[in-house]
Amino acid sequence: MSKEVPAADRRRALPSVDAVLHAAGELDAHARRRLTLAVREIIAERRASGEPLDAAAAAREARARVAERDRPTMRPVLNATGVVLHTNLGRAPLSERAIAAMREAAGAVSVEYDLAAGRRGERHGHAARILAEVTGAEDGVVVNNNAAAVLLALAALAARREVIVARGELVEIGGGFRIPDVLARSGAKLVEVGTTNRTYVRDYAAAVTERTGAILRVHSSNFRVVGFTASAASRDLAKLARERGIAFVHDLGSGTLLETTRYGLGAEETVQQALADGADVVTFSGDKLLGGPQAGIAVGRAETIAKLRSHPLMRAIRPDKIAIAALVATLAAYRDGSAERELPVWRMISASPTSLARRAKALAAALAAAGVACEVIETRSTVGGGSLPEETQPSRAVALEGHATRLAERLRRADPPVIGHVALERIALDLRAVLPEDDERLARTVIAALAAKGRT
Ligand SMILES: *Cc1c(COP(=O)(O)O)cnc(C)c1O
Repeated sequence: MSKEVPAADRRRALPSVDAVLHAAGELDAHARRRLTLAVREIIAERRASGEPLDAAAAAREARARVAERDRPTMRPVLNATGVVLHTNLGRAPLSERAIAAMREAAGAVSVEYDLAAGRRGERHGHAARILAEVTGAEDGVVVNNNAAAVLLALAALAARREVIVARGELVEIGGGFRIPDVLARSGAKLVEVGTTNRTYVRDYAAAVTERTGAILRVHSSNFRVVGFTASAASRDLAKLARERGIAFVHDLGSGTLLETTRYGLGAEETVQQALADGADVVTFSGDKLLGGPQAGIAVGRAETIAKLRSHPLMRAIRPDKIAIAALVATLAAYRDGSAERELPVWRMISASPTSLARRAKALAAALAAAGVACEVIETRSTVGGGSLPEETQPSRAVALEGHATRLAERLRRADPPVIGHVALERIALDLRAVLPEDDERLARTVIAALAAKGRT
């Protein structure tokens, strides 16, 4: 741009809206209207800045602007954070079987239609039988998420009555889900017992009155109390509840059906164990360690589950047909004994350090060959999603050389966006939460994002 050109001449150098639209080629009326807005904006900006603009460049820019605006904000990403259940990245990725089931359920399905009888059926029956089979419970019911399952259990079993909770379990799960608030919303009255670090069965026993509706136990999902601690055994709480004719509700949070100790992780109480210990209702999430869609699951005694199912709140928190389909397909993997091989969450958790090291080496080699300086590093990955607090697994990552913040930003702008992990001022691509079949795409995406426009 020449400094000598007077302002009036510069304005004359800008193309008209019509000229730009003409340069954009053939457009239907709708596309034309949408592009016109972007063209007007671009011309106005150039008029203000004084930069020149030709019609073809303006048309390209307008198209790019519209495409950028049309791009959904929720997009598939590559999770290289090393956190398997990353709440911000959608928690559990689904299995192929679950994805296929969701696709089928997207059309007309017998979600509330009894095919045998040819009349209206039960939405809540589809998952009940398989839930009973894989957990050992008498019955089960599915709702929108576990927060809703806890709310429903308390509303159905203890509204306008007291619920006894250990002080050390009055937790905030994250996303503002606080047990005392949920209790209040359910219409139950909270009775705290014990101290932050120690609570005994006798504390609960002393708090039971004729106003008590339930004892609630909440899994400490995201923190751990260490040192001088004590808590009542679930078995003893179940016995106390039975003796006094009240309900024992156990919110497991993540709710695993497989033993986590098999993968070098700490022991996480399984759903089967919680039921065997005598809880009337056990609640857990569908999209944490279960490895399925967002859902809340309540399993337990038939008569107790019946109370949940017939509660008016049920209508407001019922699952949609697509979630039901994905959940049933996920549970089928447990029924078939193929969960560890089939469900992405367990495939990730069970990946050995040796296999992660081999994959990291291959990724580093591919990046280096394309001129992206990097090295393989040892990391500790986590399960996340309110499971196994403080527990880590040995993992491997490819650390990139360069300015961590700037590299992270470029990776987030890649297609698909790559979300890495910043450790020791470096950005690292941890392979724990990446499935092996995505390794190549990860390499290609990182190379396209970083190798193209020179290094940062
Ligand atoms: C995660 C969690 C919840 C909430 O489950 P959502 O499925 O996210 O609603 C409730 N309780 C515990 C103990 C949890 O860990």
